[in-house]
Amino acid sequence: MENSEILKKFLQNLQQVPYLASKNLFKVASHFLEMEKDKAEFFCATLLKMKDCLVKCQNCFVWKEKDSDCVYCKRDQSVICVVETWQDMLAMERAVEFKGAYHILGGAISPLDGVGPENLNIGSLVERVKKNYIKEIILALNQTPEGEATAAFIANRLTQASSAQNHIIQITCLARGVPIGSSLEYLDKLTLNKALSERRPF
Ligand SMILES: [Zn+2]
Repeated sequence: MENSEILKKFLQNLQQVPYLASKNLFKVASHFLEMEKDKAEFFCATLLKMKDCLVKCQNCFVWKEKDSDCVYCKRDQSVICVVETWQDMLAMERAVEFKGAYHILGGAISPLDGVGPENLNIGSLVERVKKNYIKEIILALNQTPEGEATAAFIANRLTQASSAQNHIIQITCLARGVPIGSSLEYLDKLTLNKALSERRPF
C-alpha cells in the first residue's frame, strides 16, 4: 500500500503542513481514508471557500471576510497592540479585556531565516502612527531574541516618527511575567492578563 503513487502524493502534501509532526502523517492520512466521501467533499469545499472568502485587513492584517468591515478596525484606534502573528492576537483576545486595535507584523526579524524588517508589516505600522492620533503602542511580542530585537527596532522607528511630528506616543511592552523564550499563543489567560495590565514603558 505504501507504494501507491496517490498516497505518496497525499503524504508529500501533508508534509508541507507546518506543525504537523512527521510521525503523525500516516495517522492523518488514515483519518481521511476512513472518512465518509461526503464528509471529505465538504471538508475540501470548506477549505476552498475559506481561501476564497477570507482576506487580510489592509490596516491591521487580521483575517476578515472579503465583503465585510474589519471589526477590530472599528474599535478605539488610539491604543494599538502589536503582535507577531494572528494566533498571538487571538490569544490576547481570549485572555484579556483589551478593547483597542491590533497590528499583526507577520513574524519577527530573524536574519538567520532571511526575515528582515522589510518582510514584516512594520512600514504600515509607522504609516498608521503618522496618519492617526495614537496615544499608546503596546509591543506584545514574544519574549524570544527575535521578538525582543523586533520590538527594539519598532520602538526606534516609532520614536523617530513621533518626534518628527512633535507628538509623543507612549510605547509600552508586556510585564516581565511572560516567561523567557515563550510565545503568547501558549500562555495561560491569567499570565497574559497580568502581563498586559502591568505593562511597563519599553
Ligand atoms: Zn483591521
